[in-house]
Amino acid sequence: MKITFLGTADVRPRADAYCSSTMLEIGDDIYLIDTGAPVAELLLKYGKRPSQIKAIFITHGHSDHFQGIFPLLSQCYYVYGDANFDILFPEKKQADALCDCAVAAYLGTPFPHDRLRFHIPAEGKTATVYDDGVLKATYIPVSPHEGVPHFSILIEAEGKTLLFTGDLSERLKDDDFPKVAYEREIDLVVCEYAHIQAEHLEPCIQKSLAKQFVFNHYAAWRREEIAAFVSDPRYKIPLRAVNDGDVIEL
Ligand SMILES: [Zn+2]
Repeated sequence: MKITFLGTADVRPRADAYCSSTMLEIGDDIYLIDTGAPVAELLLKYGKRPSQIKAIFITHGHSDHFQGIFPLLSQCYYVYGDANFDILFPEKKQADALCDCAVAAYLGTPFPHDRLRFHIPAEGKTATVYDDGVLKATYIPVSPHEGVPHFSILIEAEGKTLLFTGDLSERLKDDDFPKVAYEREIDLVVCEYAHIQAEHLEPCIQKSLAKQFVFNHYAAWRREEIAAFVSDPRYKIPLRAVNDGDVIEL
């Protein structure tokens, strides 16, 4: 499986980083975790076609995690008739609004729900929400922020396990680091670094059964802090901050 970090910034995109988005590739199939980056354009840049997308998993309904889905949806609605994928979106109101926007953009035919399929994961419940026989995704609730349901996402594919933490509570005050990382081996944890600090993460990393951690969703002004954190010799597993365009093969 090939993992490409399309966007690694926090809420403020910058010249060298878009907001959160990660692309997983398994053979010709593409899965996106969050779409805060301009994914429609980035897919083209990476030589991909919308018809390769199998599913999109959104951790929560804050724009820096999904704003790039709108151009993609409107293009898949109007231009790419062969696009056919599932979208896991935690908030129904927002999902409905996105469909309405795609239709409004062209004032065309009704939204093609048969090939661009939204699904709303149940709030507060751990559940396997997607399994196409290639990749399985389990949504794990973390604390709601500002009233918006948030999820961590556990991905299993090709015998590997990845955990996307999604956004965690400020300073981990709600102790919402996903406990599954303590219970089973995880090949890669993709951990946000917008709302947390190294001191709060340290016990989670030490207790986890993860083989490696990468950090995304961070502000430019925290670069030095993260560089010191990921090179701290106390950690026995590799830690690294990722940048836009970075690739990891698992
Ligand atoms: Zn965020």
